[in-house]
Amino acid sequence: MPDAVAPNLVAAVDAARHWRDMMAMAEIGGFIDEAGHPGVNRPCLSPLDRQARRLLISWAEKAGLGVSVDRLGNLFLRHEGSAPGLAPVLTGSHMDSQPNGGRFDGIWGVIAGLEAVRALREAGVATKRPIEVVAWTNEEGGRYAPGCMGSMAYAGFAPPDTWDDVTDRDGIRWADALAEQLALEADIARRPLGVVEGQAPFAYVEAHIEQGPLLEAKEMDIGVVTGIQGSRWFVVELKGKSDHAGTTPLAMRKDAVQDMLRAINALNALMHDPKDVLRFTVASIEVQPNTSNSVAGLVRFTIDFRHPDNAVLQARGNAIEGVIQAAVRDCAVKVTERFHAVPVTFQPEVPDAVEAAARAQGLRHMRLPSGAFHDSQFMVPLCPTGMIFVPCRAGVSHHPSEYATPEALAAGARVLAQVLADLANR
Ligand SMILES: [Zn+2]
Repeated sequence: MPDAVAPNLVAAVDAARHWRDMMAMAEIGGFIDEAGHPGVNRPCLSPLDRQARRLLISWAEKAGLGVSVDRLGNLFLRHEGSAPGLAPVLTGSHMDSQPNGGRFDGIWGVIAGLEAVRALREAGVATKRPIEVVAWTNEEGGRYAPGCMGSMAYAGFAPPDTWDDVTDRDGIRWADALAEQLALEADIARRPLGVVEGQAPFAYVEAHIEQGPLLEAKEMDIGVVTGIQGSRWFVVELKGKSDHAGTTPLAMRKDAVQDMLRAINALNALMHDPKDVLRFTVASIEVQPNTSNSVAGLVRFTIDFRHPDNAVLQARGNAIEGVIQAAVRDCAVKVTERFHAVPVTFQPEVPDAVEAAARAQGLRHMRLPSGAFHDSQFMVPLCPTGMIFVPCRAGVSHHPSEYATPEALAAGARVLAQVLADLANR
């Protein structure tokens, strides 16, 4: 099977239906930005998220799939295999978006999974193993940090109650938002939470837009993803003293903004990388009281630090707190790590299956690592894991101008269909 095209299966992927589904989903939380780009703002565990899930469920039920949800809100659509007791092949991604997000990040992997399973059923391609399409809860971390809570809890990386007291900008606790959603979805069958309470999947395949410029630049149809670089997120709090900007001499201040500048300059030196492989970003800054004539008494800023080499990720990440302590002059420093995902290399099974399907379908393909993190990062210890990337315009993502063509998405869904058929018959 891997090296042969399954013509009826490939033909059963309905490109027009697939695009229609994508555009229908993009309307839920959809908005037009000042430049006229159609964006999506669909926070996890929000009414919009639930509306999107209900739409997905209606499509799944129409296709004859079984629907269930676990206690983290991860949603599963099941295509039964001829041997239902065997571990399922899992595919999917996430349905939440960044606050100023696009129409393709995450949601495409879920809809591609649904389309691939529909194609299998319509083409009458039997599979031995069940196939489950999953929509993971809170991948983006936009409303509740960190991201990937659903997949982390599923895979046993963290106990399911780890994030109960995390709050969103309105002070709503994660545990309360999750309980509300589970209550509103009480009509959906409940299932055990992943490997914590149930069975490990046989394999996991995630389809996603590349979110980088390589595939488009090299005129490729399919990215065969080889692994994901590591990520660490920190929140730094600098506590000084708020004073009158007109009366307090500079020497008597504890100015949190000035110390933030010292800290960021020192971090830039720590994170300097002549090869430009390392990714270091400070992009969210909160200043209190945030008025022009008061000395800043408190600053909170985030650090997003990524590297493909775990030795570098550990050494420099662990040095962050000491470097800030040494750099600041007047403020008390508190550094909290909020997310830590080590770099992963995918086992060969899934990348090889993706490559074989792309080759069999005559698609241009290349191997590449992922710079963005994904739920698949947490599946690696559980089962053979891999990803299918398709090109997106200029590599733009997390922005309303994010775009992938209907043809690119259909090609990805066809490869996914063949990969699922292949893996589910092993
Ligand atoms: Zn994503």
